[in-house]
Amino acid sequence: MVGTGDRVDNNGRMADSTGPIVIVGASLAGGAAAVALREGGFDGEITLFGTETHRPYERPPLSKGLLLGDAEEPDWVGDEGFFDTAVTWKPGTTVTAIDPERKVVRVGDDSYPYQKLIIATGSTPRRLDLPGAELDGVLTLRTLDDALALRERFAAGGPVAVIGAGWIGCEAAAAARKHDAAVTMIAPEDQPLVRVLGDQIGAVFGGLHREHGVDLRLGASVQGFEGDGTVSGVKLGDGTVVPAQTVVLGVGAAPNIALAEAAGLELTDGGIAVDPTLRTSEFDIYAVGDVAAHDHPRYRRRVRVEHWANAKDQGAHVARNVLGAEAPYQASPYFFTDQYDLGCEYRGLADPEHDQLVIRGDLAGREFIAFWLRDGAVAAAMNVNDWDHGDALGALVDSGRQVTEDELINGTL
Ligand SMILES: Cc1cc2nc3c(=O)[nH]c(=O)nc-3n(C[C@H](O)[C@H](O)[C@H](O)COP(=O)(O)OP(=O)(O)OC[C@H]3O[C@@H](n4cnc5c(N)ncnc54)[C@H](O)[C@@H]3O)c2cc1C
Repeated sequence: MVGTGDRVDNNGRMADSTGPIVIVGASLAGGAAAVALREGGFDGEITLFGTETHRPYERPPLSKGLLLGDAEEPDWVGDEGFFDTAVTWKPGTTVTAIDPERKVVRVGDDSYPYQKLIIATGSTPRRLDLPGAELDGVLTLRTLDDALALRERFAAGGPVAVIGAGWIGCEAAAAARKHDAAVTMIAPEDQPLVRVLGDQIGAVFGGLHREHGVDLRLGASVQGFEGDGTVSGVKLGDGTVVPAQTVVLGVGAAPNIALAEAAGLELTDGGIAVDPTLRTSEFDIYAVGDVAAHDHPRYRRRVRVEHWANAKDQGAHVARNVLGAEAPYQASPYFFTDQYDLGCEYRGLADPEHDQLVIRGDLAGREFIAFWLRDGAVAAAMNVNDWDHGDALGALVDSGRQVTEDELINGTL
């Protein structure tokens, strides 16, 4: 039997070797950790708490296949039956406190002991503190139930206003257009996705949405929402009212750090501070996924990544560390998006304001690779409608090797 490792912690305590292991948050990171613990041979008790009632699932299809109407289910984490049989999964159960001294988590008055604890509480979509923001029809998109409710509204027609031009806003707008709803996208920036991709690539996405009939109101602020019980419009800073029967708030997500904060864990950069091995300031507590502000060995700074691959891979990685591997998590961030007929993958971590942008291929035709160069190396690369070079781009980013602009544009990848 593989246990949680006999080690002396930083207070000189010997860690018990057989569990139990508690995981708070039954989504991608928490679910992946449970699966990997069993795959790693741990046969002690694993208890997985999740506020949601669905078994762990992956969120990317919510704003793509599911919202478009091409899929009926998200992608599930683990094999069918795993969470019912291989672990103690407690759906619809919110952990209310963590007590690191007694090594228990609490659900109301009930206490559950842990030997090792993994926090995978993810994030919650931000709402806007504006007049009318609580009207019916002003919605966020995070859960399977959110996606199903939005899809029904999109299919019913009626104008849709999307607030925010980030990933969720862009994908929601594309899905609403597929349902033939009139869509207005409202954001303060000059282009969609500008903070991640910069102006030039952001403009590619701006053009894409315009071509598909989205009314882009960029450089615009929102003053509030109008309606009588149910939303009927969005009031902009210039006084214009954009009609809307459905409003999608795509204005970012806040990491769920309250439990960790109340337990006295160190927080930083908006998340729970974890060392390179994903351990928090408490020896027996780890944090992974959206909520973890990771001391990343590659970047030598805190990195908090709100993407699918990070949650999945950190979940699996932390399981190995809980079982004694003590290995740093080194993977470069990765994400993907699909909007209309544009699909892309992004690897690395660019600073679009300062890095040099190099384009290979056809920007206007939306079939290209974007590189962000920093100090002669590729900090990040994005392949757009190009499915031949993904692995090579990942290797290039990870290598940190010196490259020239000419090599990137004309060389063999
Ligand atoms: C609509 C949508 C589309 C996305 N598309 C992409 C994409 O295309 N590509 C990409 O790379 N990324 C995408 N992402 C981001 C990606 O899904 C997230 O980064 C990932 O889900 C994070 O996983 P997580 O397990 O860390 O957190 P979450 O998925 O947020 O899960 C945390 C879970 O913990 C539960 N929880 C919180 N507090 C408690 C508590 N106290 N007790 C019990 N349970 C608790 C929550 O209810 C939730 O189920 C998308 C996200 C969304 C919402």
